[in-house]
Amino acid sequence: MSETSPLFDLDPSLLDDSLDCVHCGLCLSACPTYRITGRENSSPRGRIYLIRGAAEGKIELGGVVAEELGLCLGCRACESECPSGVEYGAMLEKGRAAIADAGLRKGWAYRLEGFALRRIVAFPRRLHAAFSLLGLAQRLGMDRVAGLLLPFVDYARGLLPRVPRAAARRRLPAFTPAQGERRGRVALLEGCVMAELFGDVNRATVRVLARNGYDVVVPEGQGCCGALHAHAGDLSTSRRLATKNVEAFALPGGEPVDAVVSNSAGCGAALGETDQWLPGRGEELARQARDVCEWLDEVGLRAPSGSLAARVCYDDPCHLVHAQGISSAPRRLLSAIPGLELVAHADAESCCGAAGTYNLLQREMSQRVLEPKLDALAAADPDWIATGNPGCMLQIEAGVRARGMAARVVHPVELLDRAYAGSAPGES
Ligand code: SF4
Ligand code: SF4
Repeated sequence: MSETSPLFDLDPSLLDDSLDCVHCGLCLSACPTYRITGRENSSPRGRIYLIRGAAEGKIELGGVVAEELGLCLGCRACESECPSGVEYGAMLEKGRAAIADAGLRKGWAYRLEGFALRRIVAFPRRLHAAFSLLGLAQRLGMDRVAGLLLPFVDYARGLLPRVPRAAARRRLPAFTPAQGERRGRVALLEGCVMAELFGDVNRATVRVLARNGYDVVVPEGQGCCGALHAHAGDLSTSRRLATKNVEAFALPGGEPVDAVVSNSAGCGAALGETDQWLPGRGEELARQARDVCEWLDEVGLRAPSGSLAARVCYDDPCHLVHAQGISSAPRRLLSAIPGLELVAHADAESCCGAAGTYNLLQREMSQRVLEPKLDALAAADPDWIATGNPGCMLQIEAGVRARGMAARVVHPVELLDRAYAGSAPGES
């Protein structure tokens, strides 16, 4: 074994970061993988030990270190519990980057993930073409045939909805004027998965922001936020994508904006950390980044006119509640809808198991993490489940469908949008 491992050579700050942990164990009960396995190595404290051991050159970077960092959801529930302020998410990204750089992220699934993230997701036109092909395959039933031959494809089919037709996946208008008394101007990040699979959510977001008095600009040249790449240990691609967005959101349309709004918790967390990825250059974008619910709550929601007589469970996306500390704003917005009954459920702040590409790479653990949430949602028996992240929407929707539950998953802004329009989600 070398005196200093590749992990230490690559990023000496990891050793310092790991020393912030005082081993108190307060984070353990919040960790989904620890709760399931009961193994110290699968806990935040255990993983920090492993990172530290590798950083000090005492254990190899591969083997159990790569395995346990791969099994981590990156949900950052441990950060919410930590009294020492350990920045576990950043450590995880640096650790995974070291593992990827050392060629230790092994197996066809990781290779496929790397190819898809670097060569397709990072390029909006290629991603759009890929979803068009997938949609065609779904309409021809080719995905079903492939699923019969390949268990992995069959599993992935269960997670993916039908790809919407091209009209529903068109880009948002570059400018939408404020309605009523104008309060300001915001820029919107379209996102990658959101734009391709949840175009309705993006359009609802624009309408709700406009209804609240904001001009909405959608800058040209923006693209993927790079969060998925960072979680996979590809920090160079995430920095490249962040640089593109810094340029796209600097004075969009030649005028300043009050905020750069995102409706995806993962993207919002990434935008808010642009200053860490790009010290100096990324500070303005990080300062302006707001989740759509956070922004509407911050500026004061205009009371919706219509009512929605429905029971709604709000489920916290990890990258909203744990990475950005936002949990009450979406609940306050939903509670402002006349007729809507916000129903608490017992597992709202735990990860759903989606975690970017985790549900494809760690299938068994992902499903085991999801189960308690589905139990809690079944007990609460809502009409709708509202959550603000596309990965969570896909994972929870797939779970409730598999269980035969009647509840459907929506984004909070869809409920607000329908309350403004005076009708329920799904109604035209
Ligand atoms: S990020 Fe989530 S899964 Fe990973 S150690 Fe922290 S709590 Fe556990
Ligand atoms: S709560 Fe923080 S300090 Fe305590 S064991 Fe977990 S990471 Fe370490």
